[in-house]
Amino acid sequence: MTTEPTTRQVGDATLADFSAGLRGRVVRPSDPDFDQARSIWNGAHDRRPAAVVRCAGVSDVMNTIGLARSEGLALAVRAGGHSIPGFSTCDDGIVLDLSLMRGIRVDPQQRRATIQTGCVWSDVDVETQQFNLAVTGGLVSSTGVAGFTLGGGVGWLTRQCGLTVDNLAGAEVITADGEWVTTRDDPNLLWGLQGGGGNFGVVTSLDLVLHDVGPTVFAGMVFYRADAAEDILGAYQDQCRSAPDGLTTLLKLTSAPVAPFVPEAARGTPVVVIGGCWAGDPAAAEGVTRPFRSLSPPIADTYAARGYVEWQQALDAQFPRGLHCYFRSAFLAALDDRAIRTLVKAHAELPNTLTEIIVHQLGGAAGRVDPAATAFAVRDQDYIVNVIARTAGSAGFDDVKKWSRDLISTLAPAAPTYVNFTGEGSAEDVRTAYPPSTYQRLVELKNRYDPDNVFRLNQNIPPVRTV
Ligand SMILES: Cc1cc2nc3c(=O)[nH]c(=O)nc-3n(C[C@H](O)[C@H](O)[C@H](O)COP(=O)(O)OP(=O)(O)OC[C@H]3O[C@@H](n4cnc5c(N)ncnc54)[C@H](O)[C@@H]3O)c2cc1C
Repeated sequence: MTTEPTTRQVGDATLADFSAGLRGRVVRPSDPDFDQARSIWNGAHDRRPAAVVRCAGVSDVMNTIGLARSEGLALAVRAGGHSIPGFSTCDDGIVLDLSLMRGIRVDPQQRRATIQTGCVWSDVDVETQQFNLAVTGGLVSSTGVAGFTLGGGVGWLTRQCGLTVDNLAGAEVITADGEWVTTRDDPNLLWGLQGGGGNFGVVTSLDLVLHDVGPTVFAGMVFYRADAAEDILGAYQDQCRSAPDGLTTLLKLTSAPVAPFVPEAARGTPVVVIGGCWAGDPAAAEGVTRPFRSLSPPIADTYAARGYVEWQQALDAQFPRGLHCYFRSAFLAALDDRAIRTLVKAHAELPNTLTEIIVHQLGGAAGRVDPAATAFAVRDQDYIVNVIARTAGSAGFDDVKKWSRDLISTLAPAAPTYVNFTGEGSAEDVRTAYPPSTYQRLVELKNRYDPDNVFRLNQNIPPVRTV
């Protein structure tokens, strides 16, 4: 990346005044680390903010919101920087970067973790596993806890422990007016943060409920030949229906990685993969996972007892920073014949080996939550299908985006989308992510906490002006 001067600058005197009161640091376009500070995980978003403010605490957060408002600049909020639509950066505005705020306090007696919102999942997994505790986290450990949790949170413990939002017990938030609020004083705000994204303020800490997990889980991936995909998808659904809550699986229609456990001849070829994590009694591990590992003769099978922290990082190498990436998703009630045929055809037509289709199994603890209890309200669907469309650079990126949009439109034209699995966050996407009554309640909360839509770089719920 090269650094051109931004078209909009905050005055030097203003920034000097602002910096004087800051515990963290302002990174400006003229600073040598500006390119690193402005970059996010998704290489498709090459933006040049007027400044990146690395906040060291709540006071910095309050002042940064004030700076953006007084200068009339856009405000992008960044935790782990994994926003697929690129909401955690912007041109010419202020990036409020929380990545210095990585404190975690685990209370093993109360089974709670209080987490500052610059943490990524590897931070939380390491700290909580010290006590053989965990909460549903991301499949890739560099993902930010904050953005992930505020959208819902689907991971390897979804069926055992619920979504991450189902374990969100409290939060502290700095509002658009720079005021500190706690969800203890407003349960409705807690409800909104449980799936309503970054619409209501900057969350500075999250309280998450922890569960007994580990230190080892039984987890891995089984690889099958692509020509058996149709039968495998049908049989996979049958097994999902009777799987115990302690087992969470996903099915990938993908290309085999170049890895030692994959036979040389199969590397780079289309394969069906079933990944799973059993977090229950180790003695039952073989029995509960075997049905998923014998749907067809396997090419490779990596299931084994392994450390939970290690398993949480197992996919990291496949998701490096800097590629161009787009997500498109739909909830599905079932893998009916039409859906299976559509998915199998798409697998045969994958545009490149970086692009894949993931079917996440839901249900279990996540499926038993009352839809009105959290802003993440889609509880009656058994799967989320997510198309991860990637290219090494800009060449061909528009084509893979279109391919993934077309696939989801064919598969499930009217299905709701999952806000964490969208590459755009358009008004239409956001509306279809929530049932109408949930959306209406989110608008009311937005009207109360952010009537000027200061927090609009997100899967936005615009406020409705009543005058
Ligand atoms: C490699 C990869 C793997 C993923 N795996 C999963 C997965 O397994 N399961 C899943 O459910 N999702 C997954 N996601 C999607 C992920 O949950 C979202 O992209 C999420 O927004 C990332 O959070 P972040 O903090 O890293 O992102 P950021 O880019 O830092 O933030 C994204 C947005 O969240 C909001 N936000 C972030 N922090 C705050 C805060 N403190 N206060 C208020 N608003 C805030 C802002 O609107 C911000 O624009 C994955 C994404 C990637 C790139």
